Amino acid sequence: MAGMMPQPSGEGDCQGVRDIVKIRARLNVQTVPMEHPCLRCGACCACFRVAFHWLEADNFAGGVTPPELTERLDAHRLVMRGTRSCPTRCVALVGTIGEAASCGIYAQRPSPCRELLPAWENGEASAQCDRARAAHGLPPLTPADWPAPSRAA
Ligand code: SF4
Ligand code: SF4
Repeated sequence: MAGMMPQPSGEGDCQGVRDIVKIRARLNVQTVPMEHPCLRCGACCACFRVAFHWLEADNFAGGVTPPELTERLDAHRLVMRGTRSCPTRCVALVGTIGEAASCGIYAQRPSPCRELLPAWENGEASAQCDRARAAHGLPPLTPADWPAPSRAA
């Protein structure tokens, strides 16, 4: 509603805003939070077999991964359903790869998913991340895909 729009309060305030903009530009301060690159990707969840010890899906042993989303791989290991054969796509992946994708069980994802780090998030390359993205026609992440504090790491 037009009546609720904030009104300019004078030239002094405008100069103050301009100064803040200049300072932010000099310091490379992000005015809009950068979305996490994984939320526009999801490629690794549709590329690799995700295998882990069965204890990770055993509630009585402290496991948190939903067992109904897994299947037996061998005597000691489970796999996330959908990642055992081609075409690979984890059953827990939600969304469209390369556009908007996320893990439907993020807090309960198994150890291989926690261990695969996106390239350059902590200042280091990730061959697995690069390979997964390439398999889906996506360019590798670069340090510029992360906010300034991560780039400096
Ligand atoms: S391939 Fe890399 S960027 Fe894409 S979801 Fe996996 S870790 Fe994130
Ligand atoms: S459990 Fe989540 S993070 Fe792991 S492969 Fe499946 S969708 Fe990806």
